Amino acid sequence: MSTVAAYAAAAPKAPLERTTIERREVGPHDVLIDIKFAGICHSDIHQVNEGWGQAIFPMVPGHEIAGVVAEVGSEVTRHAVGDRVGVGCMVDSCRECDNCLRGLEQYCTGGNTMTYNATDRRGDVTYGGYSQQIVVDENFVVRIPDALPLDVAAPLLCAGITVYSPLKHWGAAPGKKVAVIGLGGLGHMGVKIAAALGAEVTVLSQSLRKKDDGLKLGASDYRATSDPATFEELAGQFDVILSTVSAPLPFDAYLGLLKTRGAIVNVGAPEEPVSLNLFSLLGGGKVLAGSMIGGIAETQEMLDFCAEHGLGAEIELIDADQVNTAYERVQSSDVRYRFVIDTATI
Ligand code: NAP
Ligand code: ZN
Ligand code: ZN
Repeated sequence: MSTVAAYAAAAPKAPLERTTIERREVGPHDVLIDIKFAGICHSDIHQVNEGWGQAIFPMVPGHEIAGVVAEVGSEVTRHAVGDRVGVGCMVDSCRECDNCLRGLEQYCTGGNTMTYNATDRRGDVTYGGYSQQIVVDENFVVRIPDALPLDVAAPLLCAGITVYSPLKHWGAAPGKKVAVIGLGGLGHMGVKIAAALGAEVTVLSQSLRKKDDGLKLGASDYRATSDPATFEELAGQFDVILSTVSAPLPFDAYLGLLKTRGAIVNVGAPEEPVSLNLFSLLGGGKVLAGSMIGGIAETQEMLDFCAEHGLGAEIELIDADQVNTAYERVQSSDVRYRFVIDTATI
């Protein structure tokens, strides 16, 4: 065991404060990572607030981890000391179910282990990336290509894969029109990745406040959803709509923006249910789908794709003692476009 500095919430909705946690000994298949940067995902805030149900406290959030390998176990073959690596939302899975065998560890039916706010197969509580080191099984550690600086790579470990996986699955490609709802952490990576995949991208944001940024990120159109004209002018336009919104959305209105047999894929995880008139799906044979992060192999594929296309996150680098202010800003949609903690300041 080693003692490591971390930032933790002691109780639901409590501010995060500096503390220490214990990391396990490096086992034969483990990698010890010196964490350099940790992104702040809105999911961290949902969980600290117990917005998704009962959580485990103290909680050290953080599942957008970028760092450097400091030590490897005796049987490790995938990583070496000094490698630049990342860890996302999962640190283990059953490795035996059909989904694990297909590289869909995010949908493991045997129960995967989340990076924090979970109990692992040893019975220990997991603690996330707002800390200086972490020990993770080598199979749940991915390589960060040299072309990607670690600070802008960190958010790719959740925000990047969460939009890459559904955009690929639902066919974002040349000749397709894609809309991204919400220009936050996930949304801005959705715009970059959909554009890099060759699709024509529109941002649907609450206001036109961030229009210049959206166009620079790769969108060709940018509309305010507070303007009813948006829903008239864009009716029936899109092949795929990616919703990244952290609050309940009126999906009936957005389904009207799809072409016949088009799909909305939702990755937002609001704390309250949404209502839906099923007739919105019937006319036009439309799809309302969901998607959760991505598998380990696909996460590596996404990192390689981002390196090839020069795509990192747009970040605001903060010291650890600014994390509570950052949480407030994320909750008021005042993020451009991901806060990243410099873990040297913990
Ligand atoms: P974020 O940075 O806060 O971005 C969310 C964006 O949604 C905001 O920037 C805002 O964009 C828009 N928005 C917020 N409140 C809204 C409202 N009431 N009505 C309409 N639009 C609103 O959050 P994030 O980190 O990208 O995460 C987004 C959601 O995805 C969270 O619920 C998170 O838990 C979830 N998530 C899911 C997965 C998954 O695997 N499915 C993975 C990661 C995160 P505008 O200002 O442009 O309107
Ligand atoms: Zn996340
Ligand atoms: Zn499994």
